[in-house]
Amino acid sequence: MIVKAIIDEDFNNYKLPSMFIGTINCNWKCAIEGGFDISICQNSSLASQPDIDIPDNIIYTRYKENSLTNAIVIGGLEPMLQFNDVQKLIKYFRLRRCYDDFVIYTGYYKDEISLEVENLKQFKNIVMKFGRFIFNDESVYDSVLGVTLASKNQYAERIC
Ligand code: SF4
Repeated sequence: MIVKAIIDEDFNNYKLPSMFIGTINCNWKCAIEGGFDISICQNSSLASQPDIDIPDNIIYTRYKENSLTNAIVIGGLEPMLQFNDVQKLIKYFRLRRCYDDFVIYTGYYKDEISLEVENLKQFKNIVMKFGRFIFNDESVYDSVLGVTLASKNQYAERIC
């Protein structure tokens, strides 16, 4: 999978210690719709980092060899713009009987990506965070993730 970054132990994006995978693209919908500069997006610095191609088997082995982590978070930039890669990675884990939570942070709302959400239901234990980042909005604690999200329109749901 082509990524911007992999953090083997991340404690900021889910209630379980997680491997964090940063995807490579965004269409900057939050900034365009919100009328603010792309640099305000917390993921904008990630966009300027080089892409790295890390095969799924290497990601899997790195994850399995780390006894501290119990989930995989796929996040910023926008995982839905790399949907085939995301699906392929989850399938790789599931075929090896790893049913740990995959947590997908998307800036889309659920009704904008209903086909993708339905598709992900073929896998067990998928959590999705939905919704745009709204600049200067109130933050909100999300009990599904166990973290505080940047704006109050955002929420997470266990979809399967
Ligand atoms: S979807 Fe994520 S990376 Fe894209 S503009 Fe919104 S917050 Fe930034």
